[in-house]
Amino acid sequence: MLERSENDSQIEKIRETVLSIAPTDGAALDVFCQHWSENGLSDCRHCGSTNLQRNPGERVSVCDDCGKKNWVTSEKLLERASCIQAYLTAALIREAGLFISGSAFARLTGVQTSTAYNILRKFSIAVANQLPIDAQEVSGRLLRMIIAMRTRETPARMHPFTEQDLIDEELVLANSEHVMNGPNVVVEVPPAVDQDDFENSTQLVLAELSPDTGLTADAVSARTGIAVGIVTGSLFVLELNGKAHSILGGKYFLCVESAAEKFLHQDDSKLADSVKLMAKKYLSVIDEYLHRVGRKGLQHHLAAVWCALDRITWGSGSLMILSGIHPPVPYRQMRDYVSPPYLKIVIC
Ligand SMILES: [Zn+2]
Repeated sequence: MLERSENDSQIEKIRETVLSIAPTDGAALDVFCQHWSENGLSDCRHCGSTNLQRNPGERVSVCDDCGKKNWVTSEKLLERASCIQAYLTAALIREAGLFISGSAFARLTGVQTSTAYNILRKFSIAVANQLPIDAQEVSGRLLRMIIAMRTRETPARMHPFTEQDLIDEELVLANSEHVMNGPNVVVEVPPAVDQDDFENSTQLVLAELSPDTGLTADAVSARTGIAVGIVTGSLFVLELNGKAHSILGGKYFLCVESAAEKFLHQDDSKLADSVKLMAKKYLSVIDEYLHRVGRKGLQHHLAAVWCALDRITWGSGSLMILSGIHPPVPYRQMRDYVSPPYLKIVIC
């Protein structure tokens, strides 16, 4: 990311560009429409035709083939949006890898502060929804320094970080219940089986299990060639260790690590240096531009930082296209959102 002064001066330049290429909301809509049309994102919603006619600045197009009308922003991130010029400014700022707070964005564009926040938030949500499945998950504890704004989730008369404490308590509680309800029989390794062999067998049995499809001991035995008696012993041990679970009928499944277990296993000191370094980068951007934020919406702020840091994924044109692909984000969805127990960041 650029130094703050360079970031801010480039944002000023983007605003000047927007004012010259799109002096009105209608002209800004034309810029969006042009991007969507170039990327095959403006079909007629009645017949799928791409032959749509629209007068400059108008929100309605008419299909040449079926003759029906289309709202051009319908089912897109910009559905029912006013202040399209501000949306264009926001998209170009994010695409350029720059960062801006809601209040600074309101001053820049002259829109109301709440509108400014909502525009940036909509783009952040759309970006957050593109987070890869294998994004790194970190505890909010790693980001403690910036979690200091009250939200609807903060208990009365408590510090905003209490939200994180409550999440952690719940995770520990969920885990202790899991342990208490778990099986407490002591399983003896079948006699006459060498301990090392047994451990090897257990690993082979574990490799056969999946979280979705259950397997009986007989099926595992057939697949691995290991005697059923040993497979049964292995499955017992795996179940005891919380790595497998069974259902009535004796089918065994692989346990996916619960959030609580992950929390208990996550020790910041054990996180890879690359993850800690990356978390620090996210933290420093939020610290610099937003100062302090609430735990509740933190994941969306992190997504906005991802956009600024990951210049390969979020380069030129990316946000303009995303605004044509992503469904509308109703206000209710923004208001009720609560960041997950584990926050996702992308190592980039
Ligand atoms: Zn049509």
